[in-house]
Amino acid sequence: MNHNIVVRLDVPVRRSYTIRIRPGILDELPDTIAREWKGKDVFIITDSNVRRLYGTRLLRAISTRNVNSCLLDFPAGEQSKNAEVVRRLHTQLLAQGIRRDSLIVALGGGVVGDVAGFVAATVLRGVKYIQVPTTLLAQVDSSVGGKVGIDHPLGKNLIGAFHQPAGVYIDPRSLRSLAAADFKNGLAEVVKIAAALDREFFTLIERASRRITKNGLRLLSDIIARSVELKVAVVQKDEFESGLRKALNLGHTLGHAIEASTNYTIKHGEAVAIGLVAESRIAVTMGLLREQDHTRLVNMLRRLRLQTKFPRIKSRSRFFEALAADKKSDAGGTRFVLLKGLGHSVIGVQVPTPFIAQACGFPGI
Ligand code: NAD
Repeated sequence: MNHNIVVRLDVPVRRSYTIRIRPGILDELPDTIAREWKGKDVFIITDSNVRRLYGTRLLRAISTRNVNSCLLDFPAGEQSKNAEVVRRLHTQLLAQGIRRDSLIVALGGGVVGDVAGFVAATVLRGVKYIQVPTTLLAQVDSSVGGKVGIDHPLGKNLIGAFHQPAGVYIDPRSLRSLAAADFKNGLAEVVKIAAALDREFFTLIERASRRITKNGLRLLSDIIARSVELKVAVVQKDEFESGLRKALNLGHTLGHAIEASTNYTIKHGEAVAIGLVAESRIAVTMGLLREQDHTRLVNMLRRLRLQTKFPRIKSRSRFFEALAADKKSDAGGTRFVLLKGLGHSVIGVQVPTPFIAQACGFPGI
């Protein structure tokens, strides 16, 4: 149940950090911080929910170890991933006297990790931070690899940076308090990682799909660890997403457009699950993926109780605008990551618009 995965990065200078995955690690964090960040100021950034569940307790525990610390929060939810929240946090940190050698603790889900990480990347031209992810999505995906950022009215995650954390502390036990819908969200990213990178892992999840619960700590710890290992292997080869790392965008090209064109009323993981289905349908149409592998993917997502049906999109022009604004677009149009078998993907595939329309159930385009 105890996993330590070392990340080694050689570009532009050698930087390594450890991702620690252990039930109960959150309780050990105050001692770890007091030991490893002795004499430094510590700023915990979290959201309104996680503040109540874990933030206040963590602050109190750190403070009793004579570490100068404070807790900042913002309203929970994707709508907080914006420039105004970042500006407010910058102001609070500067007013509280943050220094280049201070530590920021990103305590929460993917939104907190992205926002706090971006704040850490930008305040005083960058201070160190650690990720303490508390949602499954953040534990298997967003806390690892250093991609941080915020949304822009023109699209999701369009403003951001690469800023690697100094460490990642993953406590699968913290998932017990997670809402069922948020747990499912994370499962969509697990399926994405397995489908894009590792057929064996895909089969393992397929077999275990009915047994994966937020209380099954042993299975969960192993699934988190394997997801992290796979992501780390990719990040080590392609930190700045110039090639291989793009494979992790599987399901996200359409997923992001779904989120943007439904005003973020559909959760990220649900949008990714729908995106995985529609993009794998495109892969079948383009002769890359076998129909039976598409069916296996759909069945697995269904068993995990994830949405697989494409939602009703009121404004198709908004949908295609969001698709065009996607980071994965270039002068040649939107490029997709597509499956060419379970556990294998091809990046940078240009897809004719009629194929996209057909997979999304838009007749007459
Ligand atoms: P989230 O951070 O909004 O968390 C979901 C909800 O769970 C929130 O209401 C939060 O307050 C609550 N919560 C968090 N931890 C909890 C706990 N232990 N118990 C109870 N409630 C808890 O959403 P998310 O799904 O974690 O993250 C989604 C975000 O991650 C998106 O913005 C997405 O773009 C981003 N993301 C980033 C990367 C990356 O590489 N940077 C990768 C994937 C996704």
